[in-house]
Amino acid sequence: MALIHLEHITKRYFIGTANELTVLDDLNLSIDDGEFAAIVGPSGSGKSTLMNIIGVLDRPTEGQYVLDGLPIDQVPDQRLSMIRNQKIGFVFQSFNLIPRTSALSNVELPMLYARVSQKARQSRAYALLQTVKMGAWASHMPNELSGGQCQRVAIARAMANDPPIILADEPTGALDSHTGRMVMDIFHHLHENQHKTIVLITHNDELAEEAERIITIEDGRITGERAGKAARRIP
Ligand code: ADP
Ligand code: ADP
Repeated sequence: MALIHLEHITKRYFIGTANELTVLDDLNLSIDDGEFAAIVGPSGSGKSTLMNIIGVLDRPTEGQYVLDGLPIDQVPDQRLSMIRNQKIGFVFQSFNLIPRTSALSNVELPMLYARVSQKARQSRAYALLQTVKMGAWASHMPNELSGGQCQRVAIARAMANDPPIILADEPTGALDSHTGRMVMDIFHHLHENQHKTIVLITHNDELAEEAERIITIEDGRITGERAGKAARRIP
């Protein structure tokens, strides 16, 4: 069964009283557990809107989203943040770390929402920081870290509740090529060694090539799909 299953998804924005804009238009997409999929498309094609729906930050206007067997349209709003916290680790272009809060506390945050005890939170957060080679920076604030270091902390945070899905929106967009490479290598590691489902949203074709599946979106519709390098890799 697909981990992410989108069926006839339409998203419309109503602008003023008379105008509506169809941003996602009868979109169908299934991503299986353990896949590494890239979603590519030009600016304005609907990628962020799609990410918000996959990440249950927003609901479609029409259509059904089944996440890990759970029909999201049947989940009340007040339960969505819990589901998000369990199922999805978010990684953003702009890192979205909490300022004036240590790297360690940033990584602890999703576990705080999940009501993990303080002791367990701290030790897991520290272990996660070590896996992204940021253990030595645990007590540092985001403004003391480089962009690449911030993104590694953000990936550790995304992993906090061990979600099956990592949803990354232009994760290397703010980084130079060397640190961007490091971030992509972490995603490959999580995919290959921890069986994480990686959904990478990007307008960078070169990065998208590294996925197993490359899904093209244009004007709110899926217009193509092809295999990427990860699909051809010989084990
Ligand atoms: P992408 O991420 O591919 O650049 P987006 O999903 O951000 O595309 O946007 C797709 C289209 O939807 C754009 O035309 C954008 O202006 C429009 N849009 C996005 N969010 C809103 C909103 N909250 N209200 C109205 N229009 C929006
Ligand atoms: P809500 O405001 O719906 O209660 P929370 O702020 O409690 O949601 O967030 C719950 C989880 O969802 C957290 O793990 C958080 O990282 C993630 N999350 C919610 N909104 C966003 C967002 N805009 N960007 C990134 N992550 C988000």
